[in-house]
Amino acid sequence: MSNNKININELVRPNIKALSPYASAKDEYKGEKGIFLDANENPFGTVNRYPDPYQLALKQVISKVKGGKPNQLFLGNGSDEAIDLVYRIFCQPNKDKAIVFTPTYAMYEVYADVNAVELIPLPLNDAFDLEPAVVEPYLEDPTVKLMFICSPNNPTGNLLDRNSITALLTRFKGIVIIDEAYIDFSNEPSWLEELAKYNNLIVLQTLSKGWGMAGLRIGMAWMSEELVSYFNKVKSPYNLSSVTQEEAIKQLQDTAGFQQRIKLLIEEREKLIQELKQLSIVKRVCPSQTNYLLVEFGNADKVYEALINKQIIVRNRSKVVENTLRISIGTSEENNQLITALKTIDRE
Ligand SMILES: *Cc1c(COP(=O)(O)O)cnc(C)c1O
Repeated sequence: MSNNKININELVRPNIKALSPYASAKDEYKGEKGIFLDANENPFGTVNRYPDPYQLALKQVISKVKGGKPNQLFLGNGSDEAIDLVYRIFCQPNKDKAIVFTPTYAMYEVYADVNAVELIPLPLNDAFDLEPAVVEPYLEDPTVKLMFICSPNNPTGNLLDRNSITALLTRFKGIVIIDEAYIDFSNEPSWLEELAKYNNLIVLQTLSKGWGMAGLRIGMAWMSEELVSYFNKVKSPYNLSSVTQEEAIKQLQDTAGFQQRIKLLIEEREKLIQELKQLSIVKRVCPSQTNYLLVEFGNADKVYEALINKQIIVRNRSKVVENTLRISIGTSEENNQLITALKTIDRE
């Protein structure tokens, strides 16, 4: 496979290139011991000190768990922060553009709008997979800076074709962001393994889904050291709290528990698929490599309302994919209650 050597410097916004980042006294003095009178902190208390702005201890632990290098990692307040930053680093407002493959994760559009970046929505095919030909007209356009590829894709649940992604990675002259928020539930290797081959690749992962820490807000963005340096320049200095960093380090120790819960959720997913397929109100259950199912109903709005009446809340995605609900996999008990409710609705 040929390497796609991109001149990153040429892609970065001029004001970001010229930026000198905020430097704290602790950037200059690296020692652990000392009398710290530099940051107007209060000497009393338990969370009185500012946290490590580069989260080095947490990055060590995450790198061991995920198999990447700590110096190729940016940590954000959720991967949503990384999505926002990638627009701010590369896209000049009202000039540059980004590609997404629809239907997909809504936050790419939200942050494009926030940053006044034009989004080019290109359709996935009927199997919700990539059709590289639709990208052809944009490959040489220097104002198209970013391409978001969500795999496994939200809300459809499927992995996108590896060869098609490789073709795009090799030919696109901008930054390719592969969002692997659900990779822990899938049976394919992460694109993290391919990082060394493409200096324009950013792999997004999160502790919110497979690791069950959505409340902590920790997202990972893996990329070349050169790219990491731009993220570090632009981010808020203390974007992850000390409590967040310590709690994540603690929870990441339990890899056995993590694997056990993933296995259980996958078994529950497969059980739910079988149950759903037996209902006459269900038209189609999309294949899923995630912890949710996109389900097509005869009348999704009606089923959605009926479930709400039974205090079961799912996500109505009918505006994005006709007549569909997206259902997260819950505990065995919760899934059984969902099936019981749907069977009742099916009989009505
Ligand atoms: C849930 C999700 C995220 C993760 O968001 P966090 O900000 O890390 O909680 C990112 N991408 C996709 C596609 C998601 O579904």
